[in-house]
Parts: sequence; structure tokens; C-alpha cells
Amino acid sequence: MGWKAQPTRQVIMEGVRIPAENLLGEEGQGFSMAMKALNGGRLNIAACSLCGGQLALEKSAAYLKERQVFGGPLAKQEALVFKLADMDMELEAARSLLRRAASALDAKSPDMVRLCAMAKKVATDAGFNVANSAIQLHGGYGYLADFGTEKIFRDLRAHQILEGTNEIMSLIVGRSLLDN
Ligand SMILES: Cc1cc2nc3c(=O)[nH]c(=O)nc-3n(C[C@H](O)[C@H](O)[C@H](O)COP(=O)(O)OP(=O)(O)OC[C@H]3O[C@@H](n4cnc5c(N)ncnc54)[C@H](O)[C@@H]3O)c2cc1C
Repeated sequence: MGWKAQPTRQVIMEGVRIPAENLLGEEGQGFSMAMKALNGGRLNIAACSLCGGQLALEKSAAYLKERQVFGGPLAKQEALVFKLADMDMELEAARSLLRRAASALDAKSPDMVRLCAMAKKVATDAGFNVANSAIQLHGGYGYLADFGTEKIFRDLRAHQILEGTNEIMSLIVGRSLLDN
């Protein structure tokens, strides 16, 4: 569907034997090591979503100024200006949370897992919502390849699934409230 600039392929290992001296970390700790690596990965995906969403927002603002309907630019329609403002606010709020989660990860703060999960879900939902709104604001052109909005939409859709789905992010955050 998307992510065509970085094709994803399966890596299948069958009957592979690794010498014991090549073991990384402690035996039985592989899952926990892999999970730790995901915190930074989640921030990466969140940042990619904000970047795609920001581009979709900027394309939308430019299009509203350019497109003439009923004797003036679409930018004169207040309902559409409100929509642009909502898109901007959703991205800015997600950006603040992402920065907070990145600081927590740098500081190895006790709530870093919870904050990274929150930032991943909030930012990837924000990027997707903004990309979807950008298509709507471009009308029929938004659905065509020419304006680039449909590509952003297809690419950002994956971010709600990979690096742990957004349902799993909610599970992590919800459980953190119940674990204490
Ligand atoms: C473009 C792309 C690139 C990818 N790149 C990589 C990569 O580089 N490396 C890699 O290892 N993987 C990669 N993946 C795989 C990705 O991480 C998984 O697809 C993702 O983690 C979801 O796992 P799953 O597909 O097995 O879904 P499933 O676990 O089968 O989940 C299916 C649905 O059920 C929901 N669900 C599952 N369990 C629960 C639960 N306990 N509570 C509530 N809802 C639940 C999920 O949220 C989802 O909506 C990539 C996927 C995509 C689409």
C-alpha cells in the first residue's frame, strides 16, 4: 500500500546454528533486549509521522490560497481555515509529547516506556488524521497522485501498525496505570 521508498521484506532463518561465544547479553533475555530497542524506534516512527503530517498541512495551506471557487480562493472559507487550524494544533500537541518522551528516553527516566508508547500513538494518529484531512481539502485532486497527498496518506497509514500497533501502545499505557 505504501512505504515504497523503503521496501519491506521477510528474513527467514531455518536451521541456523550460532556459536555460544556470539551470544549477546544474557541467555533468556533476548525478548527484553528487543523490547528496549523499540522505545527509540517508536520515537522515530512518531517523528516520521509528524514530518509527513507537517508536509500535508503545508500543501493544504498552499492549495487553499491557490484554488479559486465561487469568485475567490478557498482560503476565504472560514470552515476550511478552522480545519487547517485543527490540523496544526493536533501536530503541535503531538510534537510536544514527542519531545517529552525523547527527553525521558535520554534520561532513562522510569516512565520512558509509557511516554514513548504515548508519543507513538498520539503522533501516528495525528499524522494520519492530518494526511486524511489534506486529501479532503484538496478535493478530487487530493485523491490523485499529482499533488502528493495520497502518497503521504498511504505511507503514514503503516505507522499506526508497525513498531507495535497503536492498540498495543494503549495496552502499555493502560497497564502502567494498573501496575503500581
Ligand atoms: C510497512 C511495514 C514495515 C514493517 N517493518 C517491520 C520491521 O522492520 N521489523 C519487524 O520486525 N516487523 C516489521 N513490521 C511488522 C509489524 O511490526 C507488525 O505487523 C505489527 O507489530 C503488528 O503485528 P501483526 O501484524 O502480527 O498483528 P497482530 O498481532 O496479528 O494484530 C492484529 C490486530 O489485533 C490487534 N491486537 C493484537 N493483540 C492485541 C491485544 N492484546 N489487545 C488489543 N489488540 C490487539 C492489533 O493491534 C491489530 O490491530 C512491519 C509492518 C509493516 C506494515
